[in-house]
Amino acid sequence: MANIIDGKKISADIRGEIAAEVAEMKNNGTTPGLAVIIVGENPASKVYVRNKGKGCAEVGMYSEIIEMAEETSEKTLIAKINELNERSDIHGILVQLPLPKHINERAVIEAIDPKKDVDAFAPVNIGEMMLGTADFLPCTPAGIMELLKRSGVSVEGKDCVVIGRSNIVGKPIAQLLLAANGTVTICHSRTRDLAEVTRRADILVVAIGKADFVTGDMVKDGVVVIDVGMNRKADGKLTGDVDYASVAPKASYITPVPGGVGPMTITMLLRNTLTAAKKQSK
Ligand code: NAP
Repeated sequence: MANIIDGKKISADIRGEIAAEVAEMKNNGTTPGLAVIIVGENPASKVYVRNKGKGCAEVGMYSEIIEMAEETSEKTLIAKINELNERSDIHGILVQLPLPKHINERAVIEAIDPKKDVDAFAPVNIGEMMLGTADFLPCTPAGIMELLKRSGVSVEGKDCVVIGRSNIVGKPIAQLLLAANGTVTICHSRTRDLAEVTRRADILVVAIGKADFVTGDMVKDGVVVIDVGMNRKADGKLTGDVDYASVAPKASYITPVPGGVGPMTITMLLRNTLTAAKKQSK
């Protein structure tokens, strides 16, 4: 049976490390600060934003949640971002996505000062990641790399297969695995004979958004499985993209859902905010 990668425990360990660094920074006169902007009333977004605020409080950071009405114009939102760009007590700025349809997400993300782009979604930070020179890595992929590292899973020379090519998970995690010297294959909805590819994986990262999609017959014995999926079943329970019951018996390591990748995302956001505060207070 697989070793379960405990994202809650690893996340708590990292938050403890961050809290210690925050305390030290506060002693030296700087409190790391994160501003989170939410536009509209999306209930899921509200929960995410609340959890980001709670995460900041837990590690001793300052946070400011800015709630703006659904009908807020792009111009008004960008003016707010410009104001936050200028503030010395705010080191990280995050705009919760998705935004209402009348607002151009790309224009908004590009308005954030790249030094404060703690989600690492801005083109300049994506470019830095490709070059291996980034200060911030996108949070979910960075969290996955920490889970592997802290579980003692080496990526070097391994066959890594990523299912999914989104800008927030699939593409960046493929890049980080490559940077860690994995041999990486990216699969998507047009991939022919997906199971033939996934059966070659030493490390399989699944980020597609389809409940229990990857089954035991699609993996080889000893595979390390990272399940990024978060899907709500009809009974309200959260489930991943991997059919845990059939895959776990073949895996050497596996992340559960919930309690695997999920807890790491906000933790990496906190780490990026700490990094931003350190850079800006120099
Ligand atoms: P997304 O933008 O919808 O992308 C899904 C990807 O999966 C696409 O690249 C798509 O291929 C591919 N795909 C869909 N069906 C497929 C199939 N049958 N075979 C192979 N590939 C297929 O999703 P995302 O934003 O990356 O999120 C993926 C999942 O991760 C979701 O469940 C999301 O909730 C979860 N998530 C979790 C966290 C976390 O913190 N734990 C963070 C982000 C996302 P095409 O490109 O060809 O369409």
